[in-house]
Amino acid sequence: MGICPIATTPLLTDKFTGVLRHWARSEVPTCTSWGAPIIWDSTFDPHVAKQEVRRRNLTIGLTVFAVGRYLEKYLERFLKSAEQHFMVGQRVVFYVFTDRPEAVPYMTLGQGRLLRVEPVQRESRWQDVSMARMRVLYEALGGKLGQEADYVFCLDVDQRFTGNFGPEVLADLVAQLHSWHYHWPRWLLPYERDKRSAAALSWGEGDFYYHAALFGGSVAALRKLTAHCALGQQLDRERGIEAVWHDESHLNKFFWLYKPTKLLSPEFCWDPKIGWRTDIHHPRLIWEPKEYALVRN
Ligand code: UDP
Ligand code: MN
Repeated sequence: MGICPIATTPLLTDKFTGVLRHWARSEVPTCTSWGAPIIWDSTFDPHVAKQEVRRRNLTIGLTVFAVGRYLEKYLERFLKSAEQHFMVGQRVVFYVFTDRPEAVPYMTLGQGRLLRVEPVQRESRWQDVSMARMRVLYEALGGKLGQEADYVFCLDVDQRFTGNFGPEVLADLVAQLHSWHYHWPRWLLPYERDKRSAAALSWGEGDFYYHAALFGGSVAALRKLTAHCALGQQLDRERGIEAVWHDESHLNKFFWLYKPTKLLSPEFCWDPKIGWRTDIHHPRLIWEPKEYALVRN
C-alpha cells in the first residue's frame, strides 16, 4: 500500500462520508492512488451519510446466500445481527438466496425493512455454490432487486455484524480489504497467476487484495461487476480450469480493471482469529469460525 499522493490534503470528500478525516488515523492509508477513500473507524461522520440517504430517499439491499448446511449453521445469526446493526433506521431489503426457502427462519423486522426469499438450485460442489452467486446476482440485479434497491451489499453468510454498519459504506463501487492480506507486500498476494485464466493478474498488477465476502455498490455498477465475474468463470470452465480462489479471483481482476470508488478497512470484515492489532479499533462485521467439515460436502 503506497503513500497516497493526496492523503495529506484534508479535502478528500465523498457524498456519504463527508470530508474524510485523514488526520484521525494517520497510521493507516486513508485513500488510494486513484483518489478513492479508504474508510477506517473515526475517519468519517456517520451523520453526513444518514442525511444523504434521507435526502435521496434511498433503499439499500443486502444479499446473502445460504445453500445446503450453511443455512442451519449461519443464517439466523447473520440475519439477527444484520437487523441490529446494518443500516439501522434506513429502508432495507434483505434478499436470502437458498435451496430451501421453507427453512428460512422467521424474522421480526423494523419499520421499512423487509426480507425476500429467492429460491436457487443447489450445486454439488461448494466452490460452484460460491461462484454461481455472480450469475444469480446478475439476474437478480436486473430484476426486482435492481428495481427496489438503489445500493446493494453482497455478503457471505458465515459472518456476523458486531457494530454499526451504516450508510457511510455506500458508494458507486465498494471493495473490502481482506483482513489477512492488508499488510502483505503486493507480490505475495494470492491473485490467480495462471495466464490461461480470465482472472489472471501478472506480477506487478493488482492494487490491494479484496475479500469476496463483502462487496457493494450501485445497481448499475454491480450489474457490470457480476456480469464480468460470471463471464470470466464461464470462460475458465470452458477451458477446464478454475481460478485459485474462485469468485474472489475474478472479483480481484475486476477491481484491478475497474477501480472501486470506496474501500472499507478490515474493520468492516474482520477475522477475530488474527488477534489484537493496533490499527483495528472497531470491528463491525466478523468472520464466524470456519467449520468446513460441518458445512461443506
Ligand atoms: N455458500 C453456501 N453453501 C455452500 C457453499 C457456499 O451457502 O455450500 C455461500 C455462503 O453464503 C458462503 C459463501 O457462499 O458464506 C462463500 O463460501 P464460504 O464462506 O465457504 O467461502 P470462504 O469464505 O471460506 O472463501
Ligand atoms: Mn465465507
